[in-house]
Formats: sequence, C-alpha cells, structure tokens
Amino acid sequence: MTLGLSPVYAFMKNASMVDFPGKLAAVFFVSGCNFRCGFCHNAELIEPRAERLSWDRLRQACGRFRADWADAAVVTGGEPTIDPGLPGLFDLLKECGFALKLDTNGSSPGRLGALLPRLDYVAMDVKCAEDTYPRLTGFDRVDLVRESIRLIREHARDYEFRTTVIGPVHTDAEMRRIGEMIRGARRFVLQPFVPRGTIPDAALRATERTTPARMRALKLIMEPYADQVICRE
Ligand code: SF4
Repeated sequence: MTLGLSPVYAFMKNASMVDFPGKLAAVFFVSGCNFRCGFCHNAELIEPRAERLSWDRLRQACGRFRADWADAAVVTGGEPTIDPGLPGLFDLLKECGFALKLDTNGSSPGRLGALLPRLDYVAMDVKCAEDTYPRLTGFDRVDLVRESIRLIREHARDYEFRTTVIGPVHTDAEMRRIGEMIRGARRFVLQPFVPRGTIPDAALRATERTTPARMRALKLIMEPYADQVICRE
C-alpha cells in the first residue's frame, strides 16, 4: 500500500481519443495554475484544490484504464509543473505502462527540463506574442516561456506548440509574432476559442467562437513557421 495523496485532483471517466495524437489516453487533472487566463476552460482548476486522489486510488484507476486498452496517459491542469509531486506521478504512470504526455503553459522550464527525458509527448500553449502575455495571462516572465520553447524544441521526443485563437486578440500580426517565437518547430496546432458560461472573463464569455474560415486563414499564415500546422476543431 502507498500512503499519502497524489497530485491528481480528478480524471476523465473514459479514455480519450483526442488528447494524445494516435493513442487512447487516460486523462488526469492536476489543480493549481500560475496564469490567470480570462478564457480558461478549466477555471475550477486555477486555484489549488485540497481534494486529491490517494496513490492507491490512482493506481486502481490506472489499472482499469489499462484493462480498457488505454496505452497513454495525459497529465493536464491547471498547470501540472507547479506541483512538486509531478515526478512521482509520472513514475507511477510509467510503471503502469503508459506512454506519457504533459500539457503545460511553459512557465517552469527548470521542472519541465528535468521531466523531458521521461515524456513521450509535450503540448505547450503559446498563448500569444511575448508582450501580450501579461495582459492576456497575468504572467510576465516571458523569458521562462521562451526557455521552455527552446527546451522542448531541442529535447522533447515529440511535441506540439498550440494556440487558442481568440478573435479580438489573435490578429494576423499577433499570429505572425507567435510564428516568430516558434519558427522551425515540428508541429503547431490552432484551436478555436469556444465561449462558455464558466470562463472567468465576462467579455470573453460574449465573444464568438472562432469560425472555421478564420482558422483556415490562420493556418495559411502559420504554415511558413512550422513543419506541420494543424487546425483542431
Ligand atoms: S494556463 Fe491554462 S489552466 Fe492556467 S489559467 Fe491559463 S488556460 Fe487556465
């Protein structure tokens, strides 16, 4: 029996076919985030939550996912890298035989760099151009974001950088500046902004979903900056 609580706040009931490219993935959520994005879709995970799964409960859940043919585990948040228990979590997930993916906002390059040798896939949000970060995310250490981009490009086994396209924020010029931040990357993913009643910023709740036409136009703009540019709906 393993004592104590894991960093995992919750997990998706069913394995996901969309969270790890080419794999059936169990998805685990870690609470707490050092950004304050007004468009956050996981706003209930921004503040650290006291509720956490015990290691034993987590191990049971992993066993069930493996029995259901899940071959990968995705750790998302919140921002998982701010939890000191994250290496132990990946140890357990590896022991259970999963391929490992981390979703990150790129704010902790030190911790990210230490984890990279163990990860099979990293998805890092590049939320906006460098000087837009403080306004859009409340995070002003763009040097850390820049360092995470470098580490991932140089050391990740496989990876994507991704941006959620919000109409009023992600103009053509803004996207080109994001392109400069990731120029030469293996993969860049565009995701449409989808308004929801639970996102923190009231103005953004009233902002329209990014249209497929806008996504297609931005894909063309971003194609010179990465080997592969994908629109994810
Ligand atoms: S980094 Fe992600 S989890 Fe954190 S506030 Fe922004 S959207 Fe939400």
